[in-house]
Amino acid sequence: MDERRRFPNLIYEEKKAIKLFLWLFYIFFFSYNVLWYLIIPKYTNFGDQDYLKQGLGDWLYIAVIVLLPISYFFKKKGSPYIIKYFVFLGYIFIDIIDNLLRYLGTDTPFASGNIVELLFVFFAPIFVNKRYFWTVSFGIIGKYLFLGIVLQDTDVIMPIAVTIILIAISFILLSRFNSYIESLKNVYEELRIKEKQAVIGQMAAAIGHEIKNPLASLKGFAQLQYEKFPDKSNYYPIIIQEIDRIDFIVNDLMYIGKPKAFQIEKVNIKQIINYTISLMEQQAEAQGIEITSSFAKNLPLIECDDKHLKQVFINLLKNAIEAMTEGGVIKITAVPNEEEKVVVSIKDEGCGIKEEDISNLLVPFYTTKKGGTGLGLVVTNQIIKDHHGDLKLESTFGKGTEVTVTLPIEWK
Ligand code: ADP
Ligand code: MG
Repeated sequence: MDERRRFPNLIYEEKKAIKLFLWLFYIFFFSYNVLWYLIIPKYTNFGDQDYLKQGLGDWLYIAVIVLLPISYFFKKKGSPYIIKYFVFLGYIFIDIIDNLLRYLGTDTPFASGNIVELLFVFFAPIFVNKRYFWTVSFGIIGKYLFLGIVLQDTDVIMPIAVTIILIAISFILLSRFNSYIESLKNVYEELRIKEKQAVIGQMAAAIGHEIKNPLASLKGFAQLQYEKFPDKSNYYPIIIQEIDRIDFIVNDLMYIGKPKAFQIEKVNIKQIINYTISLMEQQAEAQGIEITSSFAKNLPLIECDDKHLKQVFINLLKNAIEAMTEGGVIKITAVPNEEEKVVVSIKDEGCGIKEEDISNLLVPFYTTKKGGTGLGLVVTNQIIKDHHGDLKLESTFGKGTEVTVTLPIEWK
C-alpha cells in the first residue's frame, strides 16, 4: 500500500490497464461465443449449435455481464486493484458451474478451452504483479484439473499443456516488465530526493545567508560580555556553544544548497584522519570508546579539498561515536586499491541501522537522534560526490556499522 502512495503514477497505470483489460475481456468473450456458436454453425458443419442452450444457457452471459457493474463499483470505491482478481475468479467460477451443468452426468465429450482464458494469461504481465500472475496460472490449471477429475475426462490435458506453454512465455514478459518498473522506481526515488534537496538548497541559501550575519554579531557580543564578566556562574559559554551549533547547522544547510568552491591540493589522507581523530578523541574517551587506526604504507597523496574532507570524517566519526553509547572500539583503516583509489573504512560497534532505514539515511533531516539534524550524512555524501568518490554504508542492527569512503587519487 505504501508503495502505491509513493508512486501515484502506478495507480493511474493500473486503472488504464484495467480498462483495456475489461474491454478486451468482453470483446473476446462475446465475439468468440457469437462466432463459434452462432455464425460458424450456421454456415458450416463446424461448431456446436446446441451449446448455447446447455449449461447455464442465457444465465452464463448474464452472469458474465454482471461482473462489469461490480467492477465499476470497486473502481468507485477506490480499489481498482481488486478488479482484475474479481473478474478472473468470477469468470472461472461461472465457467466451472457452466461446465459442470453441461457435462456432469452426460456422455458429451468435454470441449475444452475458451480464448478468453488465453487473454487472462497473456494479460497478466501487463499488471506487473507476480501474485496476480500466479493466481491466473494456478486458477486456470486448477480449473482443468478439477473438471478432469470430477468429469473423469482426460480431454483436459490438452488445454493444460497449452496453458503451461503460454504461462512460460508470459512469465518471461512479466520478468522483463518487472525489472523495467523496478528501475523506473529507483529513478523516481532518486528524483524525489534530488527535488527535496533542490528546494532545501534554495531555502537554505537564502535563509542561511540572512542568519549568518546576525549570528556573527550575537557571538561577538556574547564573547565580549563574557570577557567583561568572566564569572564562573554565568551562561555565556553555553550561549557561545549554542551559537556555534546553529552556525554548524546553517553551514551544513548552505553546503547542500550551494556546494562551495573547492581548493584542490594533494593531501595526505592519513594526516586528515589523524587530525579528525584528535578532534573527536575527548568525546570518545568520555564514552569509553577506543579509536584505532591503521594505514597502508604505500598510501598515495590524494587530490582533494582538505577542509571539506575533514568535515566528512568528522561527521562519520561523530555518527560512530554517537551510535556507541555503551563503549567499544572504532576501527579506521585506509588502503589504496587497484583502481587508483583510496578506500577508507570506519567500523563501529554501535547500535547499527535497521535494513529498512538504510534508504532514508541520505534524505535531508532524517534522524533518529534527539538532538540530531539529519544533515550530516547528506553533506558528507555531497562532499564525497563532489570529490568523484563514493560513500557506502553497511550495517547490522544491534551489532555495528561500517562506512566505506572511496576517493580517487586524481580527478580525471
Ligand atoms: P544525525 O547524526 O544528525 O542524526 P546524520 O545524517 O549524520 O544525522 O545521520 C542520520 C541517521 O543515520 C542517524 O540519526 C542515525 O540513525 C543513522 N546513522 C548514521 N551513522 C550511523 C552509525 N554509524 N551507526 C548507527 N546509525 C547511524
Ligand atoms: Mg550525524
